[in-house]
This record gives sequence, structure tokens and C-alpha cells, in this order.
Amino acid sequence: MRLEGALLLLSGLAVILYSWKRYHLMLTIAERLGEQATCPGCKAYAKFRIESSGPSPLPDGGDPALEDHGGGIWLRARCRQCGDQWMLK
Ligand SMILES: [Zn+2]
Repeated sequence: MRLEGALLLLSGLAVILYSWKRYHLMLTIAERLGEQATCPGCKAYAKFRIESSGPSPLPDGGDPALEDHGGGIWLRARCRQCGDQWMLK
């Protein structure tokens, strides 16, 4: 019974650590995407719309894309001001 309690506690901690790591990575990704929100053509900040994106940022199960600091995530943006297109990744 005591051992089971310890195991439960340990697995709880593991889940918390995993969630925190995931959350932190998502923040890192969001931050990096934010840094790329400036149009290369006219330097307008965040004046774009997303044309397409892929692959799914959070696939079920293991997420190697997220582990790779969002290397698998991309967004294609088009500037609303000058029509320039660029990739956010
Ligand atoms: Zn532009």
C-alpha cells in the first residue's frame, strides 16, 4: 500500500513534469512565431493572414515535432498590406 502510494506520487510528478515541459516548449514556439510576425516586404507587424499551415502542432501520442522546438510546424502568411508571402516556422 505504501509502495503503491509512492508509485502514484511518482507518476503524478512525471505527468506534471511532462506537462510543464510541453507548456514551456509551446511558449518557446509561440515566442518564435511572434518574432517572425513582421512582413519581410514592408515591415508591417502582425498585419498578415494565415493562408495555410501544417502539420498538426499537437499530434496525439508522442510529439517529436514539439520536442524539436516546433521544427515540424509551419504557417504560410500573406501580408495584408503589400501582399508579400512568407513562412513562419
Ligand atoms: Zn507587407
